[in-house]
Amino acid sequence: MNRKYNIVHLPDDEPYRWWRLFDDTYIIHYGEALDTFLLLGTEKALLIDTAYGRGDFPNIVDMLKGDRELMVVNTHEHFDHTGGNRFFPQVYMHPQAFENADHAFGPLPQEWLDNMPYPNYEKIAVENGHIFDLGGREVEVVYTPAHCKSSIAFIDHGRRLMFPGDELDASNANLNIFDSVGAFLENCKLLKSRESEYDFIMPNHNGCPVAKSYLDDFITAAEHVVNGCPDNVDPEDVPDYCRGFFKGSLRAQVGDSCINYLPKDFVFPAGPMSEVFKKELESEE
Ligand SMILES: [Zn+2]
Repeated sequence: MNRKYNIVHLPDDEPYRWWRLFDDTYIIHYGEALDTFLLLGTEKALLIDTAYGRGDFPNIVDMLKGDRELMVVNTHEHFDHTGGNRFFPQVYMHPQAFENADHAFGPLPQEWLDNMPYPNYEKIAVENGHIFDLGGREVEVVYTPAHCKSSIAFIDHGRRLMFPGDELDASNANLNIFDSVGAFLENCKLLKSRESEYDFIMPNHNGCPVAKSYLDDFITAAEHVVNGCPDNVDPEDVPDYCRGFFKGSLRAQVGDSCINYLPKDFVFPAGPMSEVFKKELESEE
């Protein structure tokens, strides 16, 4: 690999793998269960998410994009999707992500941060309906906030793929406050109403592509929660990676689709989300 970027490696960096789903569509897979996506058009490339930015991430992207101009976009503000933003001069995101996109889940070595060439990269707002034109391939933004207030999904009209970010995957929809279940339900109905425009769902975590039929079960699970008759299962019975963010999360499961959500009376921890997540992670160790 011709390495354009100098890399500061950290002891807990995990390995990458990457492969073509189509000739013009790469999945770049970090560690156990985190995927980012590189979509190639005739003129431009679109990178969906920057993972944690660990290891050779920017060099892998640079190699795979070829001569194309690169555009970078975040599905939402969580750091496992934005951590590599500072390798790029400009990053598109929903304006709701501007404030928190650079908040790591925990402290990072200063030498690693100092190595990234664009600490003050430009954040460019994209709203519902925005089209990324890659040349022969149009990718549409759909605003879908529930897992996160800044979440956007993408419909790739070229390869008929739908990228939902962390809003749902084959193992979970990780939701937080109870009200987000209602928002999640509306988003799933919206994505379902457009299912004739894509063939597969491409979540960032826990495997992709996955079948569109997951949406039907997610809709049923969310409807049951909203209507006060949730199909709850014991979170102790599911793998660690399927649990909600917070102790006290409930899990409703219908068919293949499960949602983790917080009860109505849950008292949300005070402080910035990055600190809240950190405390939750520490308390699990
Ligand atoms: Zn997330």
